[in-house]
Amino acid sequence: MSQKNLVLLGPPGAGKGTQAKELAARLRVPHISTGDMLREAVREGTPLGLKAKAVMESGGLVSDELLTGIVKERLAKVDCGPGFILDGYPRNLSQASILEGILTELGKQDVLALELEVADEVIVKRLSSRRSCPGCGTVYNLVFSPPKREGLCDKCGTGLVQRDDDREDVIRERLRVYYEKTAPLSDHYRHRGLLKTVPGDREPSQVLAALERAIG
Ligand code: AMP
Repeated sequence: MSQKNLVLLGPPGAGKGTQAKELAARLRVPHISTGDMLREAVREGTPLGLKAKAVMESGGLVSDELLTGIVKERLAKVDCGPGFILDGYPRNLSQASILEGILTELGKQDVLALELEVADEVIVKRLSSRRSCPGCGTVYNLVFSPPKREGLCDKCGTGLVQRDDDREDVIRERLRVYYEKTAPLSDHYRHRGLLKTVPGDREPSQVLAALERAIG
C-alpha cells in the first residue's frame, strides 16, 4: 500500500501548494498548509495571527511554539485518519522532531518526504509573477498560467492579489531562510530512508506524475 502521510519539501515557489492540492484530491487526504492557516489567522486577526503577521511580512519563520499547537490539533482530526499532505511544515529540524513526537503520540506512521527541486532563478521569476484569488484560493502565474481575463479569477471573478511576501526583496530573504533552516531537512529524511526527490521545474502535470510514482 502506498504511504499517505506525506510532507512536501522544497523552496518557496517550488510548486508545493499546487501539487499538494492535486495530490490531496487524488489520494483523498487533506492538504494541510501552515502558510494558509497562518494567513487565515492574520486575516481574522486572531491572537496567533497578530503574533505571526510581522514575521511573515519580513520573510522569516514564525516560532516553533506558535505552530506546534495548530499542527497537532489539525493532525488529530478524523479526516487525517487515512493520511495527510503537509505543505510548509516542518520548516526546520526542530519542527521535524516535534512532528515525529506528534505522530507517535497520535499513533500514526512516520512521514514520507517528497522534495521538489527548482533552481533559485526560476523561483524568483515564478514568485514575483504569482497572483492568487482571495475569494477561492486559486493560484495563477502571470507568465506561465495567466487568468483568461486580466486580473480576475477564472473560477469566481474575484480580483487577483499579490501576496505581501511575494515581492522580490522578501523572496530573496525567504530563499535565504530556506537554505539556512529548511534545506537541512532533506538530509534528515534521506538518512532515515524517508526522502524522494522529484524535479519541480517541469509542467505541473509532469511533476504530479513524478510525485505519484515516488509515492508508489
Ligand atoms: P508559505 O505559504 O508556506 O510560503 O508560508 C508563508 C509564511 O508563513 C512563511 O514565510 C513563514 O513566515 C510562515 N510559515 C509557514 N509555515 C511555517 C512553519 N512551519 N514554521 C514557521 N513559519 C511558517
